[in-house]
Amino acid sequence: MPAAHRYRIWPADPGAHLYEVRLTVAEPDPDGQVFAMPAWIPGSYMIRDYAKHVVAARAESDGRDVGVRKLDKSRWLAAPCDREVTLVLEVFAYDDSVRGAHLDTTHAFFNGTCVFPAVVGQEDTACEVEIVAPDAPHGKGWRVATSMRRTTADEYGYGGYRADDYAELIDHPVEIGELSIGEFDAGGIAHAIAIRGKTKVDMARLCHDLQTVCEQHQSLLGIPGDFDRYLFLLNAPGKGYGGLEHRWSSALVCARDNLPARGDEEVSDEYRTFLGLVSHEYFHLWNVKRMKPAAFTPYDLSQETHTGLLWVYEGITSYYDDLALVRSGLITVESYLELVGRTITRVIRGGGRRRQSVEASSFDAWTKFYKQDANAVNAVVSYYAKGALIALCLDLKLRSETDGEASLDDVMKAAWDRWRDTGMPEDGFEKLCIEVSGLDLQDFFDATVRGTGELPLEALLKTHGVDYRLRRSAGGKDMGGKPSKDGKLPAVWLGATLAALDGRTSVTAVHNDGPAERAGVAPGDELVALDGLRIDISGCEARTRRYRPGDRSELAVFRGDELITLRMRWAEAPEDTCYLELAESPETDAATRRTAWLGH
Ligand SMILES: [Zn+2]
Repeated sequence: MPAAHRYRIWPADPGAHLYEVRLTVAEPDPDGQVFAMPAWIPGSYMIRDYAKHVVAARAESDGRDVGVRKLDKSRWLAAPCDREVTLVLEVFAYDDSVRGAHLDTTHAFFNGTCVFPAVVGQEDTACEVEIVAPDAPHGKGWRVATSMRRTTADEYGYGGYRADDYAELIDHPVEIGELSIGEFDAGGIAHAIAIRGKTKVDMARLCHDLQTVCEQHQSLLGIPGDFDRYLFLLNAPGKGYGGLEHRWSSALVCARDNLPARGDEEVSDEYRTFLGLVSHEYFHLWNVKRMKPAAFTPYDLSQETHTGLLWVYEGITSYYDDLALVRSGLITVESYLELVGRTITRVIRGGGRRRQSVEASSFDAWTKFYKQDANAVNAVVSYYAKGALIALCLDLKLRSETDGEASLDDVMKAAWDRWRDTGMPEDGFEKLCIEVSGLDLQDFFDATVRGTGELPLEALLKTHGVDYRLRRSAGGKDMGGKPSKDGKLPAVWLGATLAALDGRTSVTAVHNDGPAERAGVAPGDELVALDGLRIDISGCEARTRRYRPGDRSELAVFRGDELITLRMRWAEAPEDTCYLELAESPETDAATRRTAWLGH
């Protein structure tokens, strides 16, 4: 094996958000060494062209400058050298999301995809990484947190690390800042959470709950052979939400107030959301980080890589994230059913489910799901949300039609055994479901995965002692999952989604065939008056309650700076809001199945 590549990263100028990155290659290509920055980061299926943040690139060898030229948007060529060559990059980093790189005077965070170029042709070579502290006065009290394997790093985390190859190098995000760190053991493996932000969190409770979630997932698929540590990197600002999975860690963002304070005992809605996020990213350490679609083995980070299977990796993970919370006892069955009811509500409120299959949504994630235009509500279905409901249906169908002999758990165990080291072929998951259950599932997959058929949720939930209920929406803040508080629901709807932007009421989406669309309302319109009276969002909802289907109204909207008057006829509000209830007196079989499914 050639000598390891040597990467050195230094937060050179926190005020200007600039890192200096040096990469030394001991045995460069004699014809000139090519370096490449990824165009995307695994787990987030959108072209981001990280090379665009490189402000300057140069190379040196033996103390002398070596010519460097750009080959295309992501690659550089260093002139031939007969000894080691060092590429020096200045990288602008001001993206505080889990997919980016950030540096300011309060902290540093980076993904390797954003700062470390690959040595083209030598991607399998081991990488040594040196993380250098920023110059004073910056970085006082900062520490480094990363799952990368330490070699010479000091007590603050500055110094040497090592990764086996480039794919591993970019799978360890790094946080440097003032951190609160909690440590716990799950299944005999050392786990930690490093939290950045001014939180006053009940760390003991947090670690206890995280351990519960992690061990729940471990009990399903077992501990992978190369899994010997895990780190949750959590950025907790005032608001925000998101996560990105890695093999030995995950990068998370959540609002600091979502974390439990000392003295809190309940699981608030916000904390439940955080636990769901943690659970989701942790399940990915099996489902997509080790067991992947064949199209991702290996990842081609230079361009879009299409697969129809993202619903398996994101949808099934979204199913198991909340399921693990109820199975482990962290949340109640009622709380779990509320979450499922909300997911159903999200899916049935989007007309996109009638136009796009989850297979197509997976395939076109790059240009549709990740780049949603004003028509997305009518044209795009979420492979997360509908994928989770397909997983739910599959699980319940297998359980009820095999008399409890098979379940989605069995399919996932078999999938893990088969594809943990190789890629899952595009038709692999469906074939495996049929193989494990012995059922004829082709019609189910035709309708729900390849097609846009409605999911048989009501019938399947009934076999597990759960009643499926629909009602009209109470308004913009109504996410479903619960019955209506007072039963007084508006009889009509506008057929448009509104948002308050800069003090204005903007139309963000217009539903096909709704009253707003038929009246000529367009996305981006500013709604100013209804029947001659000024309205805002809350006023619009309150006033909507005064109309009945068939009533006519006049809407005044600004499109750009032009005032337009539109005539609208109100239509009956759809029953697009779902909640689930435990059946009052389920048949014995259904009650038994429900216990086997939810673990209570
Ligand atoms: Zn995910």
